Amino acid sequence: MGKSSRLRLALPFAALAGLAASPVLAADGAAVQAACWQPSALQWKPGEELVVRSSRHLRIPDIAGLTSEHARPSPGTVRRVLLPPDKKLIALTFDLCETSGETAGYDGSIVDYLRSQQIKATFFAGGHWMASHKARTQQLLSDPLFEVGTHGWAHRNTRLLSGVELQSEILAPSATYAAVRTELAQAQCAAPLRSALSAIPDRPRLFRFPFGACSPASLAAVAEAGLIAIQWDVATGDPSPQRSARAIADAMIRNARPGSIIVSHANGRGYHTADALPLAIPVLKAKGFSFVTVSELLAAGKAVIAETCYDSHPGDTDRYDFVGGQAPSASPAWEPTTHVRAGRPSLPR
Ligand SMILES: [Zn+2]
Repeated sequence: MGKSSRLRLALPFAALAGLAASPVLAADGAAVQAACWQPSALQWKPGEELVVRSSRHLRIPDIAGLTSEHARPSPGTVRRVLLPPDKKLIALTFDLCETSGETAGYDGSIVDYLRSQQIKATFFAGGHWMASHKARTQQLLSDPLFEVGTHGWAHRNTRLLSGVELQSEILAPSATYAAVRTELAQAQCAAPLRSALSAIPDRPRLFRFPFGACSPASLAAVAEAGLIAIQWDVATGDPSPQRSARAIADAMIRNARPGSIIVSHANGRGYHTADALPLAIPVLKAKGFSFVTVSELLAAGKAVIAETCYDSHPGDTDRYDFVGGQAPSASPAWEPTTHVRAGRPSLPR
């Protein structure tokens, strides 16, 4: 089956849930952030980006009662969005992956740059990552520039899961998101700001498959959960330590087109991503592109849906079938390591 036959156009997702962000609500969201954190507390602290091995066990949240409040999208993954000719929008996305055998990083140099340039972006955060980085998650949630989707509970390959394990990998991060948001809403700094808090969605709407890999069963499970699966049409290759900032920037500049979704990493495994952004963003701006969240992109046009998950061509993420179905300790082929920015092993997205 050729690629073209795997793609189809879907109804505008905006019709499902009014995804377009309200400028008024967006301004309100900033009030929560301003009330709860000093500017210095928002900034990246050097070393936070490092990934460290960890043997601690985080309890998987209960997913009972997590029912979909939204219309269920048809199964498939969004690769990009077709836009009217007058719109040149693109969505930067950054994955925040974390397995159960590690504490992944927070590459705040990326977030700081986006804030300094007022660039909108979407973060796909694993449940494990959100539990390990509660304050950083709350800062992202309360930032009107950003949208937060989910990225599995412990970055397991959903192609290798079924039943309760599959359900948990997909829905547990939604429970973590809700718990972290509730904790923020109940904090002394935020509790009085009720209208501002209402600007922060109660539940995530977007899901990105760990490893960018899915199966018909996991696609169906994501749709059944009321989540929209988001892939990409521009891969930066940033999980490779050998991928230079120049190469990452060039991938963005050469391959982005109106409606593109660009994937990178902000969990410490986007090795040169932070240095690539100042190379790519000004050029993309000069080309006339504006940056929006994924939900805003979906609301602006018609999503291009693929029936399978892939990186650049159908089937290419099936190579991860040897990894990620079990906890890392049971997967000797793939072990996270403690490391510094230089010389880290290349890991799958
Ligand atoms: Zn990932």
